[in-house]
Amino acid sequence: MEHAQIYDTTMRILSSIPPHVTLVAAGKTRSPQQLEAVIQAGVKIIGHNYVQEAQASIEQIGRRIKWHCIGHVQSNKIKKAAKLFDLIETIDNLKTAHALNHACRAIDKHMPVFIEINSCEETAKSGVSASQAIELIREVAKLDHLRIQGLMTMGAYFEDPKHYRPAFRLTRQLFEHIRSLDIHGVEMLHVSMGMSDSYQIAIEEGATMVRIGSLLFGPR
Ligand SMILES: *Cc1c(COP(=O)(O)O)cnc(C)c1O
Repeated sequence: MEHAQIYDTTMRILSSIPPHVTLVAAGKTRSPQQLEAVIQAGVKIIGHNYVQEAQASIEQIGRRIKWHCIGHVQSNKIKKAAKLFDLIETIDNLKTAHALNHACRAIDKHMPVFIEINSCEETAKSGVSASQAIELIREVAKLDHLRIQGLMTMGAYFEDPKHYRPAFRLTRQLFEHIRSLDIHGVEMLHVSMGMSDSYQIAIEEGATMVRIGSLLFGPR
């Protein structure tokens, strides 16, 4: 889509979501001009899936906005991810958490992270299962350069968006439960869930962050 159209669509979506919900623009494959359009419309966070792409976008656009990692972090990219991103939404195992903690310590940076939950084990490939999430969170909470600030989930992949609901509900319930445990060093501030075809359902089910790409920018 063109700049003006992206700008208008973004304005419309920003005004339609409740004030407690933050819009993360999913920026994969989009040009700097397209990213500029959503920023001009008021987007404050762009999510990237790949370190390489994030680096290129940040070089062009700078740090007027925040940059989230919303993709799987490969072990050979952790040092770069530590430098580039303002928040990593996709921590789902202790090995990656340890490596990221180490990389953050080396550059004296405290990194906010979300724990990625596998809320639909039939269809999702990534994320820690709900039953193992608390154990992982207790371990990650001990790492001195990471700050757990919420949960993220992809949810399920279905033709009919109404089938997304159970996975989102499960993730929000887990968020409430973890918050009630009051684990030292864990702040449950955000639930990041919902994409172009599911963000409205996600908001109904308690999302505080939605990650939207194709609805803002057009099909990839
Ligand atoms: C691409 C992507 C989105 C946005 O998906 P759309 O369907 O384009 O809105 C959200 N989250 C993640 C992790 C993504 O990779």
